[in-house]
Amino acid sequence: MKITSVDVIMLKQIGRRPVFCRINTDEGIYGYGESGVVVGVGMSAVAEVVKDLAPVVLGMDPMENEVIWEKLRRSSYWGLSHNIILMAAISAMDVALWDVKAKACGLPLYKLLGGKQRDKLRAYASQVHFGWGVDQSAPGCPKTGSPEWFYQASKNAVAEGYTAIKTGISFHDENGERMSSLYMNGRLPQPLVKLAEERLAATREAIGPDVDVILESHSLTDGVSCIQIARMAEKYDIFFIEEATAPLNPEVMRRIAAGTSIPLATGERTYNRWGFLPFLENGSLSVLQPDLGTCGGITEAKKICDLAQIYDVSVQMHLPMTPVNYAASLHLEAAIPNFAIHEHHIESTKPGFIAMCTFDCQPKGGYIAPPELPGIGQELSESALAQASIETIK
Ligand code: MG
Repeated sequence: MKITSVDVIMLKQIGRRPVFCRINTDEGIYGYGESGVVVGVGMSAVAEVVKDLAPVVLGMDPMENEVIWEKLRRSSYWGLSHNIILMAAISAMDVALWDVKAKACGLPLYKLLGGKQRDKLRAYASQVHFGWGVDQSAPGCPKTGSPEWFYQASKNAVAEGYTAIKTGISFHDENGERMSSLYMNGRLPQPLVKLAEERLAATREAIGPDVDVILESHSLTDGVSCIQIARMAEKYDIFFIEEATAPLNPEVMRRIAAGTSIPLATGERTYNRWGFLPFLENGSLSVLQPDLGTCGGITEAKKICDLAQIYDVSVQMHLPMTPVNYAASLHLEAAIPNFAIHEHHIESTKPGFIAMCTFDCQPKGGYIAPPELPGIGQELSESALAQASIETIK
């Protein structure tokens, strides 16, 4: 089998803007991949890099994903360092290759990754602080960011069957306005910590003692403020804190880990196995959260997962609003022994996300299984393709 062309697909007007890559072959088998750069800036840059890299893979055998991964990294020149845009482009192409490979074998992807360690994955409701199931237009709706808001949103998530939620208690001021990270560096004012505690207490009251709570920090806190929040939160039995600080200095993450009994997780802004290794070596992280669309694709993510297992660290794939990678992540999370928990982001519950693809990835009763179709089992829907811009490199 030979790769004959690469399509770069960008969707318009569907919330965030994932960049898709479709790899086509001379046997009519095609595979979908996707970049994880869907927030902030850089989507168009990823699309351009996929176009730059496409000629490297034309004519190659798509079954040789390891050969192609190394060739893409080295032929790019810049792939020998931490380069998010380049790694996102390689990721999208790598995921597409695995889709081709599994389709060619007539098997769901998890079979090629070694088989399922578990039939269904425990999922958590992610970003509950954005108001999970809360109707802001309803009369009597609690004010955004108020403890009552947190209570209602958390209650809604648990009513859907989730046994774990992720929430952010320190992003909004007393008026419900989103705060800049500039106000969250260094020691925080006591009223802000008190408000965060009121939100967390309301959350715990809503969900009871048996549901796990993950605290999102989005790297908005730093080594000082995160420890302050963490020490306040310790008595509420927290599963882990996500992105306690920016991941550029693993030593700071180690200091935060030493300053609290709550486990730490990070990974959505860390790329490839070289990026994750220092955090494993210094023992700062209990959970890794690589994103298939930025860490180097499935080829690289499997290596990161295996590396983490050596250090007794578990893994959840980071999933913001990327439907192909959502399905691909289910296959990988089913296949690895050190699976932590599966992320179901509030954006993934929205009609625009569901309409984008063919496989409806909504957990039932707080659990979800990978698709059983050959390949990843996820494709862009006809309605999504109808309004997409597609550029073909051949
Ligand atoms: Mg996050």
